[in-house]
Amino acid sequence: MIIGGSIAGLCAARVLSDHCDRVTLFERDELPDQPVNRSAIPQGQHVHLLMARGGEELEKLFPGILDEMVAAGVPVVRNDPDSIHFSAAGHVLGTGRTLESTYTAYVPSRAQLEWQIRRRATELPQVELVNRGVAHPRFDQAAGRVTGVVLDDGETIDADLVVDASGRGSRLPVWLQEWGFERPREDSVKIGVTYASHRVRIPDGMMSEKMVLMSAGHDRPLGMGMLFHEDGVWTVTAFGVGKAEPPKDLDGIHELADTVLPPHISTALRAGEPVGEMNFHRYPVSRWRRYDKLDRMPEGIFPFGDAVVSMNPTYGQGVTLSTIQAANLRSVLASGGDVVNRLARSTARSTFPVWTMNAVADYVGHNAEGEHPRWYGPMFGLFDQFLGAAETDPVLAEWFLRRTSLLDSLYLRPSPRLVGRAVRHNMRAWMAERRNRPADVPVAVADGG
Ligand SMILES: Cc1cc2nc3c(=O)[nH]c(=O)nc-3n(C[C@H](O)[C@H](O)[C@H](O)COP(=O)(O)OP(=O)(O)OC[C@H]3O[C@@H](n4cnc5c(N)ncnc54)[C@H](O)[C@@H]3O)c2cc1C
Repeated sequence: MIIGGSIAGLCAARVLSDHCDRVTLFERDELPDQPVNRSAIPQGQHVHLLMARGGEELEKLFPGILDEMVAAGVPVVRNDPDSIHFSAAGHVLGTGRTLESTYTAYVPSRAQLEWQIRRRATELPQVELVNRGVAHPRFDQAAGRVTGVVLDDGETIDADLVVDASGRGSRLPVWLQEWGFERPREDSVKIGVTYASHRVRIPDGMMSEKMVLMSAGHDRPLGMGMLFHEDGVWTVTAFGVGKAEPPKDLDGIHELADTVLPPHISTALRAGEPVGEMNFHRYPVSRWRRYDKLDRMPEGIFPFGDAVVSMNPTYGQGVTLSTIQAANLRSVLASGGDVVNRLARSTARSTFPVWTMNAVADYVGHNAEGEHPRWYGPMFGLFDQFLGAAETDPVLAEWFLRRTSLLDSLYLRPSPRLVGRAVRHNMRAWMAERRNRPADVPVAVADGG
């Protein structure tokens, strides 16, 4: 049984359907049989990215789903500069150069993505989606395990296993405490993100890009994202990090675009027809609940998806991390034994490098509030050097994009050859800049004689 029928719950249902006769998803929000934005998922109104790795993992869970999305009109992009305008920490990657190899990314709206996954998961004969809320799991003190759930209306349902996929507002830490267990430690980064979004219909032919991602930087705490979706409408989001406020209206978004995006994109945006209204969302803190550090967990329940870890959404990793958790769950179930603790540990292993990379960028580059380890500063400096070189070196850009898309493991450090390439590249750029600089005006020395 699964609490929460959003993306993580549906991915868990898919994996569990190979091992259980019946998997029931309880979802409090109404879920129509079509792609719709719903109130429990405010992120549906904003730029919502599916990382290339997330697409690959979804395809493993639901073979054919990517083609089905394309058949529904979902745009597909390759990582070339004609299709993607991508900037990280103030560096525009791959400008004017074709990257060495290509990979494919899919650009469904959040509503479309969730609906495609929901459609496929609920086609499985073992899976049932029930539109009812769960008040809390039922804990059997004598047996020391969870034995089912109590629904909002008081009805009790028995279950051998309960998965908490209720999102970042999960109450599992509170329930654990009530049952006599420790709450998990919570790692957090106060990133203070605010989103401001509008949908816009841009006339055909004004821009070739389907994806525009412009991260915030240390000296400019505002960023932008634009994604072209299956209904021919763009979702345009401006965001502030470190408590910076994004524009309040579409005029303000235009002004920001004029300063941070290439002219052909900001011109296209200004020519666009607004659809609907502005939407805002605040995301104060990234949070990782360290279930992997607990000495003891009750049997019969585990957390999944954002209920475990939810990170600065401007990096667009949440869905991909849920699909990676699903892959972890599949291998833990296949090898048997203590599923709850082994899943917590394998999730921690796949979360750690992503969390660390984001924390370095958030504290040093995005003005997150609070103390951080001293090595974050030099680490970000290296990162910045690397990105500087990746602006015009397609091999380095590819290396970076494959890692930020989580296609390649973040445990893999750049090889000495790649570091050397970045250093040589930056040295050459520095020397060229010095050569082209106008000669210094000689300083006149007063003759006192
Ligand atoms: C502003 C914002 C932007 C984001 N952008 C991106 C992005 O670009 N790319 C990306 O990959 N990820 C992004 N994410 C994160 C991503 O949406 C989530 O990681 C993804 O939805 C998986 O989350 P989840 O299923 O664990 O939880 P959620 O999606 O939050 O779903 C939890 C579900 O549980 C239900 N529920 C809660 N309590 C109960 C209960 N007691 N009984 C029954 N049902 C219950 C809720 O109604 C909800 O449907 C973003 C998040 C935010 C907030």
